[in-house]
Amino acid sequence: MATSKSANTYNRQNWENAEFPILCQTCLGDNPYVRMTRETYGRECKICARPFTVFRWCPGARMRFKKTEVCQTCSKLKNVCQTCLLDLDYGLPVQVRDHALGLKDDVPKSDVNKEFYTQNVEKELANSDGTTPGGTLGKANAPSDLLLKLARTTPYYKRNRPHICSFWVKGECKRGDECPYRHDMPTDPNDPLADQNIKDRYYGMSDPVANRLLKQATTMPSLEPPSDKSITTLYVGGLEGKVEETDLRDYFYQFGELRSITMVPRQNCAFVCFTARASAETAAERSFNKLILKGRRLKIMWGKSQGQQATGPGKQGGTSLAPVPGLPGALPLPPTEDKSHTNFFNLATPPSGPPPSGPPPIPLTLPPPPGQILGMPPPPMGHPLHPPPGGFPPLHLGIHHSDPLQFPFMVHLHLPACLRL
Ligand SMILES: [Zn+2]
Ligand SMILES: [Zn+2]
Ligand SMILES: [Zn+2]
Repeated sequence: MATSKSANTYNRQNWENAEFPILCQTCLGDNPYVRMTRETYGRECKICARPFTVFRWCPGARMRFKKTEVCQTCSKLKNVCQTCLLDLDYGLPVQVRDHALGLKDDVPKSDVNKEFYTQNVEKELANSDGTTPGGTLGKANAPSDLLLKLARTTPYYKRNRPHICSFWVKGECKRGDECPYRHDMPTDPNDPLADQNIKDRYYGMSDPVANRLLKQATTMPSLEPPSDKSITTLYVGGLEGKVEETDLRDYFYQFGELRSITMVPRQNCAFVCFTARASAETAAERSFNKLILKGRRLKIMWGKSQGQQATGPGKQGGTSLAPVPGLPGALPLPPTEDKSHTNFFNLATPPSGPPPSGPPPIPLTLPPPPGQILGMPPPPMGHPLHPPPGGFPPLHLGIHHSDPLQFPFMVHLHLPACLRL
């Protein structure tokens, strides 16, 4: 360290002056209006020992102040956060990421080569557009399965909590609720996780967190395809209104032809139906625990067979839909609705009301006049202005029922009235 430090006193042009820190979302905290102080050449980088610009900020209420620990060159070199040193894309320790990508890089760990190496890297970074990490990582290929399985997609703000109050641990803290430190028991010193250090994290060597994550990955559950070979539907959960049908279509189409995609916005889920079982199996295997779209990790499960759906709401998919009250009983379904499309929610068959008395019912097999009912979506569910539970007034009122051509016309008259609302 001493060599490097003295070298830096004359090699001042090497010092780093930055306008903004490179941080992960967790370190920044949940407040979008974070205030930072900036201190030029405030400290030595904990990795390369060159002075760099230190930023300090508080990542939210009741959190501890954080500061940048390594310089931006070191951060870009490994694509890590300047503060927590976790990978910026996956929120994982360098060791896990490099293991998953099969990377082995040549960052020198001794003081002798370090400065020469960082200088070269800086030159290389200056020539790039700054959007890709430097070093071997910049040349790595697509993310591996392991990486997608383990990646953290949401910020983990607990990591910003204050450190444990050492007085409280000894039973001597007199500050009570005012104490800015955390009154929690520390982890067992024999726990391997208690021994973490910044250099091991950065270089990706003997990092206890990484070892635990890699161990976890080997015991992760897998998704068994159902024995009923007619099932070609996958349940996709956790959409949270951000993932749209086109996103799902774009992703799942790579596994084979899709029969349909049914979105259920109220349950934040969707059903993706493949035409072939083999495609569904590949999709399930390649997506289970690994599918991340628009920053959300999506839940993948197998759908239920048609027979099971008819008997009750799905349990496996977590979509137990109660029958919707107030659905019109007297209306026939729009003829274009395909069966596989609506069957998932048990809504395809509306609650059957008593058969209309009086004139004989008009056969539903009647072909609709072109352009009138075709493509008409089913009436919206749970509509506040929907007709009362009794349903619509009987369709045959005032209509000459012996003329079958008037029947579809009547349907047309009623449907747009409730759809427009
Ligand atoms: Zn550095
Ligand atoms: Zn961070
Ligand atoms: Zn305390």
